[in-house]
Amino acid sequence: LIELDQVNKSFGAFQVLKGISLSVKDGEAVCIIGPSGSGKSTILRCINGLIPIDSGSIRVGTHAVHKMKTEKEMRPLRHQVSMVFQQYNLFPHRTALQNVMMAPIQVLGHDPKEVEVRARRLLAKVRLSEKADSYPGQLSGGQQQRVAIARALAMEPQVILFDEVTAALDPETVKEVLTAIRELVDEGLTCILVTHEMKFAREVADRVCFTDHGRIVESGPPAQIFDAPQDPRTREFLGQVL
Ligand code: ATP
Ligand code: MG
Repeated sequence: LIELDQVNKSFGAFQVLKGISLSVKDGEAVCIIGPSGSGKSTILRCINGLIPIDSGSIRVGTHAVHKMKTEKEMRPLRHQVSMVFQQYNLFPHRTALQNVMMAPIQVLGHDPKEVEVRARRLLAKVRLSEKADSYPGQLSGGQQQRVAIARALAMEPQVILFDEVTAALDPETVKEVLTAIRELVDEGLTCILVTHEMKFAREVADRVCFTDHGRIVESGPPAQIFDAPQDPRTREFLGQVL
């Protein structure tokens, strides 16, 4: 479903991505781990076309992302790839329900009544039914992040990219967000998760990729990466974080 082949990206003289190749099949959950500045967020932003790449190719389903130039060309891609960020960026003057409903109505032009039914179902899925009419300011960080996840799901994407979605949360609320994501993964959501939650990565991922200095140094099933890392840089990183 997602295929990156030899992707290179520089910002000025600084090469952030050095020959990144990665493929994600339908229904797979891939976790990307690695030190700060190693290029994890950049990989995600290249996949949904937020930043153009210098060379190589990126395909998402039938879309050749590396060939897309204009926002108009990108639009169908954006409908298939949702992204959830560390900062949930909810609209502060809209309720949780309205936040989830906005894009399907405004971007996809769907019928508001049908969108509301689905939005309520998605809020129930992330266990926030009783908060549908609350404003973001009235919700905890973990609750806001779950609204953001429901909002991403509302676009019915083929893939969701999660970029350190629990990094800004209190330890107690991290768990409720991870539980919500885990349920989606169990239901077969295709996703790429950048995370510092190693225990979660081990339990949820079909595959873990370790990045360092713009390269995928090592990738494999969680048991292999966490219990028997082959590369000394992976070992060093895991030694620091586990
Ligand atoms: P973190 O774990 O801290 O989020 P990361 O692995 O997600 O790190 P990236 O955000 O992908 O790292 O950044 C990789 C490198 O690219 C960093 O050194 C960063 O400073 C640089 N970089 C990212 N975006 C830009 C940009 N728009 N212009 C210039 N440099 C950038
Ligand atoms: Mg990042």
